[in-house]
Amino acid sequence: MSNETVLISGAGIAGTTLAYWLGRHGFRTTVVERAEGLRSSGNPVDVRGPAVAVAEAMGVMPALREAATSVTGMRFVNASGRQVGRVNMRALRRASASREVEVTRTDLAAILYEASRDSAEVLFGDTITSLRQDEGGVDVTFAKAAPRRFDLVIGADGLHSTTRRLAFGDESRFVRHMGLYVATLPLNGPADDPDHVVIHNAPGRMASIHPVHGQALAALIFRRTAVDGFDHRALDQHKAILAEAYAGDGWLVPQLLDRVKNADDLWLDSVSQVRIDSWAQGRVALLGDAASSVSLFGEGSTLAIAGAHTLAEELAATPAAPESAFARYEARHRLLVDPKQGNVAMAGALMVPSSRAGIAARNMATRLWSTAAAGSWLRNQLRPATS
Ligand SMILES: Cc1cc2nc3c(=O)[nH]c(=O)nc-3n(C[C@H](O)[C@H](O)[C@H](O)COP(=O)(O)OP(=O)(O)OC[C@H]3O[C@@H](n4cnc5c(N)ncnc54)[C@H](O)[C@@H]3O)c2cc1C
Repeated sequence: MSNETVLISGAGIAGTTLAYWLGRHGFRTTVVERAEGLRSSGNPVDVRGPAVAVAEAMGVMPALREAATSVTGMRFVNASGRQVGRVNMRALRRASASREVEVTRTDLAAILYEASRDSAEVLFGDTITSLRQDEGGVDVTFAKAAPRRFDLVIGADGLHSTTRRLAFGDESRFVRHMGLYVATLPLNGPADDPDHVVIHNAPGRMASIHPVHGQALAALIFRRTAVDGFDHRALDQHKAILAEAYAGDGWLVPQLLDRVKNADDLWLDSVSQVRIDSWAQGRVALLGDAASSVSLFGEGSTLAIAGAHTLAEELAATPAAPESAFARYEARHRLLVDPKQGNVAMAGALMVPSSRAGIAARNMATRLWSTAAAGSWLRNQLRPATS
């Protein structure tokens, strides 16, 4: 058992999972989370492949199954709402005896947090403001808490990681815009179809309604070159970007744009990947989206859970030699991450075709094949199994 002190920045998917496993290995862990609590966007995410075994070992699989969304498939509709394609995901899961589960990111983070809460001290509503490391440890200052020294610091603070900025450099060096933006917006009412994600495409744009525990969540993904001066926290800028991108589209888009106008719970960000040569600098390492965001297409949650488990395992193996533990973690986890980073172009082509011909071909493919085969094909293109 180790007695090292570890600061984790971010109580998201990766940070809470790491806190749990470091606690099991005897590390003294502190988690600092910028948000005041655990509220977050309710977008659905998958726990699949290697993350299922980790979740089982943590004892959280029953809670995840209980929280699972009830989505059984995707329906593609035209501008007047008529169905033009369909993918049966339930048949696919049955056929492949898959143990994967789809939950909202909010539920996943809450369940992982609950499992880890006895393993770590948690500072909500705070953030690291500076890091200074020497051979024996890292001196950390916070926006609110008193300065402290830790043996190690792990940045699990997401795509726009503060830890990465402080220890590795400005995010513009590592974050790559993938030519798409994504927005989500809870519609605060029941979904008309509680079993299917209903999707409408126009060239370069996708609008969808995702049922989450019966409630409707709008998700909008669209092609757009990087917006000059884009700020992932600027609500008014996000509203203007959406209004321009979706002007004139059919289906439910006009109502969605109306809802966007008055929304204070709209979330929008660039679909981005993080590419960085090394995930560690001395006693500071990166994990999850901060290290290697694969974007929304590509199993980010699964990779965050699996990576946290690997990192804890390697730190526990050589607690007195963190740099070699970080190197082994990176070597092992890159084997899972690297293949996923190539998926975005194909996933984007399927979910957000850029032309009318592309939309028609995708819809035709889902109609011509048996539902399970089409589902298998589409799903594998989007998110090939990690295991
Ligand atoms: C719309 C959308 C759909 C997605 N769909 C899927 C999917 O279907 N399947 C899938 O596997 N993945 C999906 N993902 C990706 C998945 O959500 C992420 O890859 C995953 O959440 C990464 O986990 P993480 O812990 O690294 O980061 P996050 O979950 O982003 O957590 C980071 C945490 O750090 C906190 N934080 C940020 N800055 C600071 C700071 N300065 N100090 C302290 N704390 C800080 C944040 O508040 C947050 O709690 C999707 C993502 C989006 C946006």
